[in-house]
Amino acid sequence: MSETAVVSSEKLNGGLDGDEQWFGIDIGGTLTKGVYFESHCASDDHEQEAAIEQIRKFVKSSVKYGSTGMRDEHLEIKDQTIGQRTGTLHFLKFSTSRMDGFLNIISDNRLHDCRNVVCATGGGAVKFEQKINEKLAIKVEKYDELHCLVSGLHYIHHQPGECFTWTNLQPSGKGGDKEVVDFGASMYPYIIVNIGSGVSIMLVKSENEVQRIGGSSIGGGTFTGLCSLLTGCNSFAEAIELAEQGDNTKVDKLVKDIYGGDYDKFGLTGDTVACSFGSMMDPEKRAQATKADLAKAVLVTVTNNIGGITKMLAYSFEVRKVVFSGNYLTNNNMSMQMLAYALQYWSHSAILSIFLRHEGYCGALGALIKHCS
Ligand code: ADP
Repeated sequence: MSETAVVSSEKLNGGLDGDEQWFGIDIGGTLTKGVYFESHCASDDHEQEAAIEQIRKFVKSSVKYGSTGMRDEHLEIKDQTIGQRTGTLHFLKFSTSRMDGFLNIISDNRLHDCRNVVCATGGGAVKFEQKINEKLAIKVEKYDELHCLVSGLHYIHHQPGECFTWTNLQPSGKGGDKEVVDFGASMYPYIIVNIGSGVSIMLVKSENEVQRIGGSSIGGGTFTGLCSLLTGCNSFAEAIELAEQGDNTKVDKLVKDIYGGDYDKFGLTGDTVACSFGSMMDPEKRAQATKADLAKAVLVTVTNNIGGITKMLAYSFEVRKVVFSGNYLTNNNMSMQMLAYALQYWSHSAILSIFLRHEGYCGALGALIKHCS
């Protein structure tokens, strides 16, 4: 996709057949996210109602499904009205690499009975379309992922406590307090930085004006990939746990390692990273660096790079609000605090960083509500 193309709000593929949709799926490069709307209104059609009950029972039977599937029970939202029905929103995810297992679960439990269509977004909606067609005999209704992301955000930001920023931040990126913010008051224009496997950055000027203004291949997938290579860890959770215990200054070359102190003329404190992984050419320092130090250095490298690109784009487009989304930020206070601190510091507090409780689910939610509303 061209970085500056204004994305069409049209569906990539048109034509629903009247089937009621209660699922939105965002099939990403690493994770597949699903939002299930459990309607509290019963269907008049007994066969439909039995099929709906089957799904309801299955989803609520557990918070873990197969080897990687999980339901984020703490994110559940009750009393929502979507498509003139009231119900509860449930949030689920699994590794996209387990797509075959997921389709088997759907098929074995007959969760696709009475379904003709599934609303999906993300690259996997294109990649897995044929497989879903063949395995479940249902049509994949594809929606553009950037528009789904923005639609999902526009729906979810109204939820109490959804949007927050960080205050009382430490330069080290450690510590800080969450503070709820009201994003809706005068939201446009804003930038949304979606940190998934890679990074996409969009400028949103109004509900229907969404422009992709940048991105980076150095994202959440880079963090997990490099951490696996350098530390042997096997999951995002393990990598985050290691990083929490690590010290990147044992790995990176800092301004003070070069200047012997601060570089006052340009406002760079001695603790600023001058060169990520810059100390690792030194055999002695390499021997001293622990797995935790390496994981933290990867986290700082990835996060600082995203912060730098975001700052430049916010300045170029004269935007003062930046929303961060994507699962790289799930249980990752360190990166959120670093991003918030960097934007606050470099903009002299002119730029507000906004984070979300449902950071990874905007796309899937967008796919659901784009059809229902
Ligand atoms: P995508 O749509 O590209 O899959 P996501 O927004 O789902 O992107 O974010 C994927 C990133 O989130 C991963 O690269 C990793 O850094 C992080 N992540 C968070 N939780 C998990 C998890 N349970 N499994 C794998 N990666 C995770």
